[in-house]
This record gives sequence, C-alpha cells and structure tokens, in this order.
Amino acid sequence: MKRAIPAVLILIVLTSIPLTAQVRDEFRVPDIPGFQTLKMDPHLHTVFSDGLVWPTVRVHEAWREGLDAIAITEHIEYRPFLQDVPGDHNRAYDIARPVADQMGIILIHGSEVTRAMPPGHFNALFLSDANALEQEDWRDALREARDQGAFIFWNHPGWDRQQPDTTLWWEEHTWLLENGMLHGIEVANGWIYAPEAIQWCLEHGLSMIGSSDLHNPSSMDYDLGGGQRRSMTLVFARERSAEGIREALDERRTAVYFKDNIAGPQELLDALFRESLVVESVTRHANRFGVTLYNPTDIPLELSKAAGNEAGLEFFRQVTVPAMGYRNINVYMADPSARESIELRLQVDNFIVGPGKGLPVRMQLTPDDDQPGPGQD
Ligand SMILES: [Zn+2]
Ligand SMILES: [Zn+2]
Repeated sequence: MKRAIPAVLILIVLTSIPLTAQVRDEFRVPDIPGFQTLKMDPHLHTVFSDGLVWPTVRVHEAWREGLDAIAITEHIEYRPFLQDVPGDHNRAYDIARPVADQMGIILIHGSEVTRAMPPGHFNALFLSDANALEQEDWRDALREARDQGAFIFWNHPGWDRQQPDTTLWWEEHTWLLENGMLHGIEVANGWIYAPEAIQWCLEHGLSMIGSSDLHNPSSMDYDLGGGQRRSMTLVFARERSAEGIREALDERRTAVYFKDNIAGPQELLDALFRESLVVESVTRHANRFGVTLYNPTDIPLELSKAAGNEAGLEFFRQVTVPAMGYRNINVYMADPSARESIELRLQVDNFIVGPGKGLPVRMQLTPDDDQPGPGQD
C-alpha cells in the first residue's frame, strides 16, 4: 500500500537539509607591474604526520582564507599517528589533489625533512616522490630532494627548541648552500619571526618564505572571524599556476606576510607600496596642504617621518592608513600659495626591507587645482 506524503512534509524535509555554504574571504593585496600577487602557504601538516586534520580540510581552509596555493609538508621522520593512519609519504598530497583541482587551489607536492640542529628542518617543494626522502643521513635526504628538482627552504631558523638563545647559521647551512640544496629561508613561521633570515636571504640570494606551519585546524590558531590571518608567502608570479610559482620562487620574487607586516626585497616592497597607497586628494589652504590618503588593501600602512625632509614642512611623526580606509593629514608650511608641489620623505614601518629597517619612500604632493579646498582657513 502506498501512502501519499503531504507536500508540506516534503517541504519541511527539504528545507531542513543543512546546506554548507562556504564564503571565500579575499585577502586584498595588490598586484605589481608585470606580476600577479599570489598568496601561498607552503608549510602545512595533516594526520599523515602530526597534524590534526584530514588533507582535504587544508584545501577548504585555504580557499576560505583567500589563498591561491598551498603545500602539505608532512614530516618524513615523525609519524605519531602511523598506526591509525597508514599510507606512504605521498598519500596526503594524493588525497588533497582532486579537491584542490576542483576548488582552484594550486597544490604543490612537498615534504618536511625533520632533523636535529644542525641543520634543523627543511621543506622540499615540487617533489615527484616524497618516499625517496626517507634516508638515514640528512645529506642524502636533501640530496634526493635536490635531484628531484625540488625547491628547498630552511624552516623556522629561530625556533627556540632548536636555537635556544640565538638564531645561528651553522657550517652545515653553508654546505647546503654550496651544494645547491638551499633556496629559501622562513622569515616567518606562524608567529615565529626571524629577522636574521631576511639578512641571510639578501646576502646569499635566497627567497624569503612565510608559512603557517599549521598542525591544528586554522580556526583554532587564528582568530579568523576577528580578521586575523595566517602567516604566508606572497609570490609575485607571471601567471597563476604551479609553474608560475616555481619561476617566481627561483627568481626570488617573494615577500613574507605576518601580523600585518610584510618583509621582502626593497624593490618588490617599493612596487607593492606604490599600488597600496592612493593620494586621493591634495587641497591648498592658507597655511597647509590638506591631503586625503586611501589604502585599497587589507594591510594597514604604518607611515613615519624619515630623515632629510625639507626644513619648514610640518607634518605627522607617525600615522596609520587603515586597511580599506582613509586618513586625512595636514602638511603645514610658510606660504602654500607659492608652492607647486612638495615632497615628503617617509618610512613604511611595517614594510620590512632589512632587520629593523622599514621601507624608505618619497611622497609627492601636488594640489589638485588652485581652487581652495573645503574648510578653508
Ligand atoms: Zn619543523
Ligand atoms: Zn612543520
């Protein structure tokens, strides 16, 4: 016997099936001339080493947090869940791959070679077979990675469990460098910041890397709802692809995002700053230029007065142009009507181009026209 199901019941059933809506939180960092700015987290763990999530979750997290690319980099030498989660060193990548393809996240095949200091921990990206990195001697493991054509970077050089007092460069790192097994260094790993790594990258021609090194779900480690973002690498790529990322890494076109700071080579940060600050308007008043600045990015701009400014120009010592926000400033001077334009010498304190050194910039201010601005004084 068949009984008709009332339409209203069907409706109730259908509307109570939970639909999991996912919203991507775009991270607005501008492109620079000739290059797209891709956001990459090249250091993540899952249950296939000592992380607490399934590989596909890393892809979903990355998509939600506005990333373009990730690498899942399980420890070769440390598999605490091996009994419950068997599978070889390529398994996490193989599981995540179809979901990454479906969601448009570039998934890079990587692994973490995990040794005592020296030399410490290293990530190898663009591997063909991570299983071959299982070697007795760390030299053989990294040699194997190099022979697979990997991009190899030194992880968390300032980690206190391996470098308790000082972030040191060991002779083992010189050996790796000289033998083509060191191509980058993590300047930021989660909240661990190693300013020494900026200097080493500049000296030795290495790429600056930032990563989260997440083991937990990202929402456990970052206040995502409160606007916090994971540490990551900004990759200035010719195209949005794995090949584009590799080319940029090899050419050292990277910068590091952490805690609303960016560290990187001066010319790249200079290009990024030029796309990040808009002089919206400049109006001439009786005793000053009134200036409206706009920041169309998700990274606040912390400006401070640098040395060498023209005598007689009076303006702020420090000012922050908020993310996606405006800031009005005044530059006082003796006779504004006689000035065609002025130049301010500034430092961007949160664009770090060397240990303890912000990006030096010059800002040219030319009044929009000769009409007096509103609030004429
Ligand atoms: Zn590590
Ligand atoms: Zn790690």
